[in-house]
Amino acid sequence: MYDLIIAGAGTAGCLAAMTGASLGLKVCLLDAKPLSRIGDKVCGDAVGKHHFDNLGLAYPKNEELAGELKGCKVLSPDRQTSFTIEGLGAKAFMVNRHAFGQRLLKEAMDAGTLVLERTIALEPIFQDGFIRGLRVLGPDGKREMHGRIIVDATGFQGAIRRRLPPKLGIQVQVSQGDLQVAYREIRFLEAPLENQDYGLIFLGSRIAPGGYAWLFPKGKDIVNVGVGVQAREGHPNPKHQLNLFLKEQEFLKASKVLDGRGGIVPTRRPLLCLVAEGLMIVGDAACQVNPIHGGGIGPSMTAGKLAAEAAAEALEKGEASRENLWSYCLRYLRGYGAKQAVLDVFRHFLQEAEDEELNYGMSQHIVEEEDVLKASLYGEVRLNITEKARRFFKARGCLGFLISLRKTTRLMKRAKELYEAFPNPEGYEEWLRAENRLFEEARKL
Ligand SMILES: Cc1cc2nc3c(=O)[nH]c(=O)nc-3n(C[C@H](O)[C@H](O)[C@H](O)COP(=O)(O)OP(=O)(O)OC[C@H]3O[C@@H](n4cnc5c(N)ncnc54)[C@H](O)[C@@H]3O)c2cc1C
Repeated sequence: MYDLIIAGAGTAGCLAAMTGASLGLKVCLLDAKPLSRIGDKVCGDAVGKHHFDNLGLAYPKNEELAGELKGCKVLSPDRQTSFTIEGLGAKAFMVNRHAFGQRLLKEAMDAGTLVLERTIALEPIFQDGFIRGLRVLGPDGKREMHGRIIVDATGFQGAIRRRLPPKLGIQVQVSQGDLQVAYREIRFLEAPLENQDYGLIFLGSRIAPGGYAWLFPKGKDIVNVGVGVQAREGHPNPKHQLNLFLKEQEFLKASKVLDGRGGIVPTRRPLLCLVAEGLMIVGDAACQVNPIHGGGIGPSMTAGKLAAEAAAEALEKGEASRENLWSYCLRYLRGYGAKQAVLDVFRHFLQEAEDEELNYGMSQHIVEEEDVLKASLYGEVRLNITEKARRFFKARGCLGFLISLRKTTRLMKRAKELYEAFPNPEGYEEWLRAENRLFEEARKL
């Protein structure tokens, strides 16, 4: 019998496996893909350096590393204003995603994890109110596997989460408006880039309604370029939007597509309850992605590590009850979860703002450049609404934007306080009601 059966060998699953195995647990990691394809994921390929520092994980190097960014530049919808976000917390590695994923897999195996390739998790097995195993479909057909804790790390699919009964109190469905649907291409350039130090982010509803277009250099000859749009009903096709965007990028016209693929990423606050009797959920399956920029590699690795540590502690205590696994919820939601919640409030505001309002807001520096980094790192937003800016907005009939922005920052502060006080199981229902009320307000921004 395994201590941990982890479904999904992405960044979340690999970190959970390597941490669990290093702590002496008997770990099985399974994935639908063949071994050699694990880690091959549609992505923007940027990972903040601070995530490696926080996790004590070796930096990517050699074939894993495609480049390094000093930060990024965010361009207003009219392209008239550009915010440069740089400094310690903005540094990022551009990775070759497949090689990076293979390294994490190898580290999990080296720590003692057994890996089952081409094995699809079909559904959880319940016994005495606990999840005690998985029905899987492997190369030899269907079978049952039994373990003391099952981890859903199947990414956006949430293959196990989706099959949970409502009585467990875990949110099973993620609403369409909380998803980004994206298309990205890796392109080889005809002429090398002059500046490969900054990722570029382009706002604006004409190209990327409810999302953004990006252009991230991978060294001097290759770029990762893509468009993500909010997956609201009737949303445009991101591949079509990328073609529109590319027409505006003269220097990309003669570039050659090395790979072009689409993907989906949840951009909201995390699921609020991440555990049940015998079950833990990590990574995209638990919506653990930065709601503003869609970066999920760092938080998914953090969650994988925290989950495995909590699993080891629970098994030490005796059994994998919801109560014993709860420390994972506490650590994730009070930490990165709080930041996600704060940024999710801001996301609601941004997705409702008109392009013109964003143009004005950026041109008037309502939020200063250095504060954008603080907002994305720590979830703090400081407004810089001067009398001049107020008059500017009033003259254009946009005072509502400033009022809504003030309301947003107040809600962000409340979200931070609420999540940092994420409770023990006894206080959860009351906390949940307060959380739902807060996000009801955020949806009306
Ligand atoms: C277009 C796009 C661009 C992005 N850009 C960035 C970026 O630049 N930086 C960043 O940090 N994040 C980015 N992200 C988000 C990031 O890729 C994810 O948040 C992160 O990979 C989540 O890791 P995970 O381990 O939870 O899931 P995944 O990496 O998706 O891994 C899930 C694994 O589960 C397996 N699986 C699925 N279903 C089953 C099943 N039923 N049984 C067995 N195995 C199964 C899959 O094969 C896969 O290996 C982007 C996402 C998209 C779509």
